[in-house]
Parts: sequence; structure tokens; C-alpha cells
Amino acid sequence: MISYPEAYKIIRNEFLKLKLHTEEVDLLNSLNRILAEDVYADTNLPPFDNSAMDGYAVKFNPSRKEWKLIGEISAGNFNLFTLDDDTAVLIMTGSKLPANTSAVIPVEDVITENGYVKLADGKSIKGNQHIRYKGGDLTKGVLALERNQVITSNKISLLGACGKARVKVYRKLKFGVLATGDELVDIDSKISVDKIRGTNLYSIISVVNEFNMATVNFGFVKDDKEKIREKLSEAFNNDNDILLTTGGVSVGKYDYLKELLIELGTEVKFWKVKIKPGKPLVFGVVKKDDRTKLVFGLPGNPVSAYVNFMIFIKPAVQELLGIKDDKTVKAELTESVNKNDDKRNFLRGILKFNLEKGKYVVRAAEAQSSADMTQLANANCLIVIEEVRIDPQKGEEVECIMI
Ligand code: AMP
Ligand code: MG
Repeated sequence: MISYPEAYKIIRNEFLKLKLHTEEVDLLNSLNRILAEDVYADTNLPPFDNSAMDGYAVKFNPSRKEWKLIGEISAGNFNLFTLDDDTAVLIMTGSKLPANTSAVIPVEDVITENGYVKLADGKSIKGNQHIRYKGGDLTKGVLALERNQVITSNKISLLGACGKARVKVYRKLKFGVLATGDELVDIDSKISVDKIRGTNLYSIISVVNEFNMATVNFGFVKDDKEKIREKLSEAFNNDNDILLTTGGVSVGKYDYLKELLIELGTEVKFWKVKIKPGKPLVFGVVKKDDRTKLVFGLPGNPVSAYVNFMIFIKPAVQELLGIKDDKTVKAELTESVNKNDDKRNFLRGILKFNLEKGKYVVRAAEAQSSADMTQLANANCLIVIEEVRIDPQKGEEVECIMI
């Protein structure tokens, strides 16, 4: 059985061989997509010197306290004025400044009387105050946003200001998802005798969608060799980049997945990893025409399948896309943990920030069964306990993967 780092390395290498394609989308459709181009400022930001306040534009002179008002400029309605030592122009926030402006006095700091503006008692002015200079945010031609990052909502303003009505993003990788198991009924069914609602299809499609990749739903299939063979062939012939199956990869009599994957041409890279949960994972590569498809046989236990996705697939896709943001946090254990195997454990954890300590603290959920959906639902992280670590104690530091 191989270790987590070995298994991850194999998966990562295969992901890095996948060919990425790009497409252009409207700015409003670019949210949460991955930027596939370096974006440069096509203009200075701001494009012209402008006022940061509603006030009066003046030519700064430390001894002057009074100016003759010669006109006004509102935002988007420029008028040509040239300031002298003794003149001022009424100016609104965002207005282009008249020539010679070297300070803007806020409306609140003056008294206006008979066409004159006077500095109010106790107020003073500094040179260059309340002026937003041309290019002060970004200079024309300079890199505004580097490629290979998630376009989160805080970046939309900058993209828009650079004129990016259309944005080049990576095409979404397509994940086929298939659930296997005789015991599975769909989630809208009543439970009878020995059946359970098959939730993996929904959970795995959701985690792929949350990650903003595309999915193809191949539904459920019984533990029937012929039927699985048919479904797998269909999925192999589909244009998905990655196929995720759940169930049937362990050592049960009816666990046919691995055998059938091999029969249909999959080169199995490994089966079983020294981790908990998620040990029975099968990973392979299948070539169809000139395309390579990656195949993951995820275990059937809902927690195992989810954890496998979070610790193998998501980080490997991020590496392929060149995304650097690392969603791990170091935290202090508030309770000791029982761990006495030599596997890497990924425990469902509840992480919070402790204001008094000024750091993150975490505790493991009480139940750590790989079938326990309640604890998975209430967790906000996976606590990583490395292979060699035994029974980590309260107060020790652990790494947490945010989920
Ligand atoms: P398997 O990997 O097929 O041996 O399944 C392991 C456990 O996961 C069994 O208890 C199954 O009933 C359960 N299981 C398998 N598939 C699903 C699914 N789609 N949704 C929920 N539980 C499942
Ligand atoms: Mg099964």
C-alpha cells in the first residue's frame, strides 16, 4: 500500500499532463472562473487627476486663506479653468481637476460668502491634499492581475476598470460521476428493508460544482458486472476529462470496479492508500482516441469519497491551473485525539479563531466513522494527523484543510 505523498505525486503528475483549454466569457460570467491571461492596465487608473472630496480646488499657498470662486466642475462634466493664487473652483468627488490645482479643500472646512470661499477658523490645508493623481492606483501598461487565480468578486472592479468586457478563462474540466451499489435508491425514494439513499452522486457533484468545474451525471448502477461494464463504457466514450465512480472498490465479493476498469483499458496506477478515511481508492488512466481520461474509483462511504476528493483531486486540479492559494490553517488542538495507526488521518474537525489566544484552535468531532454524515456536515475542516504521529495531545499544533 502506498503512502499519501506517493499517491498524491502520482495523481498530480497525471493531472499535469492534461491539456488545458481557454475560452472568453463576459465579465459578469467570469466570477469564480480561473483567469487564463495576464491583464494589463489599458489606461492609467485613475485616468486623470481628480478630487477625492466634495470641495474647492485651489493652487496651494500656505499663507492664503481666501479665494474668489470662478466656477464649478462636477464629476463627468469638465469645464476648462486655470487656477491663479487667488481663485477657487467648486469641485465634486471624482471631478477632473482644473489646471494648477495643488489642493482640494473639503466643503466642511470653508465658509462661502459673496462669491468668496474662506477657510473656516481652526482649519488648515496641506499641499496635494485630497487629490487622486492620474495613475496613482495603477499606471497604464502595468500588470493589473496575474493569470492563474480565481476571479473572486473583489477583482471584478479592477478587471472592469482595465476594460475587460471579455475575460480569458480556463475551460472547466468536466467530471463524470457514477454511483454503484445494489443497496442504493435515489434520494426521493422511501427507505425499504435494506436499501439506503445514495448520496454520493449528489455530494460529489456538489463538491465539483463548488469548485466551479463541470459535471456529467451518469446516475446509479447496480453491482452487476454487465451493467457496470455498460455504464463505464458509456462514461469512457463521453468527453469528460475525469471520471469519478463511488463504491465497489474494496475487497467485497461484488466489488467489481477495479477489475472492470482494467478490462476496459484503464492503466491502474495504484489501489489503496495508507490513509483514513478513504483507503480503498483506485486511480488509473485510460486513453480514448487521443484523449487521456483520469479515473478515480472512490470508496462508497460518503465521508471517504468526500475526503478523497478534497485531499487528492482538488489540490491536483489547483496545481494544474497554477492556483497558489493554500486553504490550510495551523491550529492548536483543544482536546487530545486518539490515533494509533500508521496511516495519515484526516479527521473531521471544528475550527475557530480564539481571540484571547490570537490563534486558531480546533477539536476533532466525536465520531470519526467514514459513514458518519452528521459529523461531516458539522465540520468545517479536516485535521491532518501525519503517519508517524500517535495520539496528538491537547495543546499540540495540527494542520487543518478548510472544507
Ligand atoms: P462500498 O465501497 O461499495 O463497499 O460501500 C461502502 C459503504 O458505503 C457501504 O456501507 C455502502 O452502503 C455505502 N455507500 C456506497 N455507495 C453509497 C452512496 N452512493 N451513498 C451513500 N452510501 C453509499
Ligand atoms: Mg458496494
